[in-house]
Amino acid sequence: MIIPVIIAPDKRLQRASQAVVEITEDTEQLLDDLYETMIAHDGIGISACQVGVMQQVCVIQIDEEDEVIEMINPRLLKGSGVNLDLEACLSLPYVYGTVERFDQVLVEYFDRQGNLMELEADDYLARCVQHELDHLAGHLFTEKIIEQIALENVDQWMEEHTHD
Ligand SMILES: [Zn+2]
Repeated sequence: MIIPVIIAPDKRLQRASQAVVEITEDTEQLLDDLYETMIAHDGIGISACQVGVMQQVCVIQIDEEDEVIEMINPRLLKGSGVNLDLEACLSLPYVYGTVERFDQVLVEYFDRQGNLMELEADDYLARCVQHELDHLAGHLFTEKIIEQIALENVDQWMEEHTHD
């Protein structure tokens, strides 16, 4: 089910989410709904607080051929390197800005079966993971913007800064 995305400013986007104590059918439904909602909005990541559910649950999929990453109670174990790139958010339509993030991260989380998983990510996936972890802690990427890029300049910025 597609759930309306909460748009900033909204207090729910600024509150830390609760850890999931037990993975239930509701948790699985939430993961399914988050995925559907993310895809409906052409997003690459979404956190439960963005649909008003204050639980540490998020979903990430950068490209449609990628496996969907479903994270419950994710925790950053390690971050290294520095990466500056453009970021956006479903809760902040038309806001684009550069943000400095770790280039590589190691996170642990539970999958929907309750298995403790580890994910090593770099580049844009690492960025997306950090963006969603911030959501779960009640932070928006606008707090970290170094340079805001106007909507009409986004394409040009991408052309100038994408080298692969
Ligand atoms: Zn976001």
